[in-house]
Amino acid sequence: MTIQGQDTLIVGAGLAGLALARELAQADRRVTVLDKARGVSGRSSTRRIGEARLDHGARFFTARGERTNAFVQEGLAAGWLAEWTRSVPKWEAGRVTQEGGNHPRYVAPAGMNTLGRELSKGVEIRTGAQVVRLTKTGTGWRVDCQDGRAFTASRLVLNLPAPQIVPLLAGTDIDGSPLQAVQIDPCWAVGAVLNHDIAGADWPALRVQEHPALEWIAREHTKRRLAPELIGHPPALMLHARADWTRAHLQDAQAEVEASLLTMAREIALGLDVAASFAHRWLYATPTERYPEAFGWLPEQQLGWCGDWCTPDEHGPRIEAALLSGWGLAKELVASGL
Ligand SMILES: Cc1cc2nc3c(=O)[nH]c(=O)nc-3n(C[C@H](O)[C@H](O)[C@H](O)COP(=O)(O)OP(=O)(O)OC[C@H]3O[C@@H](n4cnc5c(N)ncnc54)[C@H](O)[C@@H]3O)c2cc1C
Repeated sequence: MTIQGQDTLIVGAGLAGLALARELAQADRRVTVLDKARGVSGRSSTRRIGEARLDHGARFFTARGERTNAFVQEGLAAGWLAEWTRSVPKWEAGRVTQEGGNHPRYVAPAGMNTLGRELSKGVEIRTGAQVVRLTKTGTGWRVDCQDGRAFTASRLVLNLPAPQIVPLLAGTDIDGSPLQAVQIDPCWAVGAVLNHDIAGADWPALRVQEHPALEWIAREHTKRRLAPELIGHPPALMLHARADWTRAHLQDAQAEVEASLLTMAREIALGLDVAASFAHRWLYATPTERYPEAFGWLPEQQLGWCGDWCTPDEHGPRIEAALLSGWGLAKELVASGL
């Protein structure tokens, strides 16, 4: 089945792709977003175990720019966003110390995938659409999915981590070399629902320092309880492993990783009593070598790309960079009449 007639196809319903799609839809462009996952929001994601919701991707987000602050105000006013904390303490060798900074960290109390859901309102989305082939046609682009669906459009934007774009471009005559330099670290994430909260813990999260495996431990229920309807959310922890540890354990079985990280977390958060847990491997979590511009656009090819790994910003890849990337490309396309 071939679905035709779109102005723009966006592959990847991450926050950059959705920010772009929302702008184009609001400017009356016909746009469709394809994503291989069952839902939207990409790495800004939330996993459910029973009643519990755990942010196994993005932990929170910060807003420095004017445009991002307006988005934050929109979320705060509507109630799907809340300020979580102004300080995330550090843990090192058994000692917890407060950090010096004092800037707001925002979360969606219902889970970080709310960001994608909010951005996708009014946008046509096709989920379960894993793109396997891109073909340049006489009038634009054809995109083939693994399940046999095909889409055509005048222009194409790729909102995938760059290492996943490179093999797709290999089948075209587009030079993918500017994307080959982009490097993205992996991350093992383990979520756990607890039988009871950690005794004496008063922190929302800990930035774990100088530890062989862990870099982040969050008490997820401190986010959930910002929403009146989630006040009874069970205590739950999210653990993120360091990139070097993840790389060394990339092929380990999920159960093994779960057991190892929970054992190490028990040494930090004493008395951890786990009721249920899961492990998730992010092959592409944190960009370390990025594309130097906020987005890519090749007018002669009618092809572009966006994502958190496209940023000239000194604060680096993060949710705000993804949003700015999508909004930046939208501005370029609308201004050039596309
Ligand atoms: C563990 C972790 C912790 C993080 N912590 C923070 C934090 O605290 N603060 C912060 O600001 N940011 C954080 N981030 C980063 C943040 O999640 C990202 O910056 C942001 O979500 C990236 O959005 P994006 O639009 O660039 O792409 P992505 O979210 O990567 O979206 C890409 C989309 O493409 C889809 N896709 C991939 N291949 C295909 C295909 N072949 N066909 C169709 N669809 C495909 C994927 O399913 C995905 O939905 C964290 C990320 C991780 C993984």
